[in-house]
Amino acid sequence: MKKQLLDVAIIGGGPAGLNAALVLGRARKNVAVIDEGRPRNAVTREAHGFLTRDGISPSEFRRIAQEEISAYPSVSFVADTAVSIAGTNGQFQIETAQGQAFESKKVLFAVGMKDRPLDIPGLAEVYGKSAFVCPYCDGWELRDQPLVIIVKGADLMHFAPLISGWTNRFTICTNGPDELTDAQREELSQHGVPVFESPIRSIESNDGIVQQVVLENGTTVPCRGIFFKPELVTGSDLPRAIGCDITEAGSVVVDQFGKTNVPGVYSAGDAATRMHQAIAAASMGSFAAAAINNELNLEAWVRNTSEI
Ligand SMILES: Cc1cc2nc3c(=O)[nH]c(=O)nc-3n(C[C@H](O)[C@H](O)[C@H](O)COP(=O)(O)OP(=O)(O)OC[C@H]3O[C@@H](n4cnc5c(N)ncnc54)[C@H](O)[C@@H]3O)c2cc1C
Repeated sequence: MKKQLLDVAIIGGGPAGLNAALVLGRARKNVAVIDEGRPRNAVTREAHGFLTRDGISPSEFRRIAQEEISAYPSVSFVADTAVSIAGTNGQFQIETAQGQAFESKKVLFAVGMKDRPLDIPGLAEVYGKSAFVCPYCDGWELRDQPLVIIVKGADLMHFAPLISGWTNRFTICTNGPDELTDAQREELSQHGVPVFESPIRSIESNDGIVQQVVLENGTTVPCRGIFFKPELVTGSDLPRAIGCDITEAGSVVVDQFGKTNVPGVYSAGDAATRMHQAIAAASMGSFAAAAINNELNLEAWVRNTSEI
């Protein structure tokens, strides 16, 4: 198998990987962006909060990004899944599902996060259309609407005050025991927030727009939108496979420049933070790219000095 030689293999071509590719392409580095094209936000029609791109569809965002990056000929795009990684700093070997092989001096994991299967009947039908995960991304569109928030315990006590900035017409469904203290229940009651612990039987919707949430105890909660806390895992097992430290929440542990505990391996975007926003992911990709470029240039400088 003939290996393609790279300065940087970027695994994942969402906002994080693409912004890293842009910075590295402009820094004249030989880069491949290996991307299987299954971003978490593919379910949604519009992405918000990215300056100059507010309301753009995720696929259009990627198309424009790839078009811009194509101006830099040392960057190539590989539509494939990276399935294995081995080696050490300066010489990583990466193989893909379709049998391509790369040898790369540095690696950037921009693999995002993946949702675990949604286990509430009817939730998949509304996810990305009227059920969302982040009020900063989709709260404006649902402002002043009656909402159901599916969350429990400490997350509930974080989410209730947060969502009240967009609407005061919301009901909490904890889909099982609420995991609250008496003091927390009292606090919610003082704010007039209804909390239902009964498990959710189904979410009823019309063309992707939620109509009501039906509970096992027979209660129905009419609403026009839902926010819920999804269960997530790292977008790929490869960071763990090469020895990266991973938090309990599934994030790759990095420093402020995206450097992992494994020399030569970086991570950026959703995979390496709990703040899941496209512009934050792009920013992390940019920082990591600068750090990688700096490392590559310094290594070449030192090599050249010893040869003089
Ligand atoms: C429903 C929903 C709505 C959202 N709305 C907004 C919004 O309005 N505004 C906003 O700012 N953010 C929004 N987000 C969050 C936003 O989508 C993420 O923060 C952003 O996409 C993260 O970028 P990323 O590059 O880190 O990862 P991603 O965009 O997830 O890209 C990761 C890429 O890596 C690929 N990949 C993973 N493993 C491999 C592998 N082994 N080989 C090859 N490729 C691989 C994946 O297929 C994917 O294409 C939303 C998220 C969801 C779920």
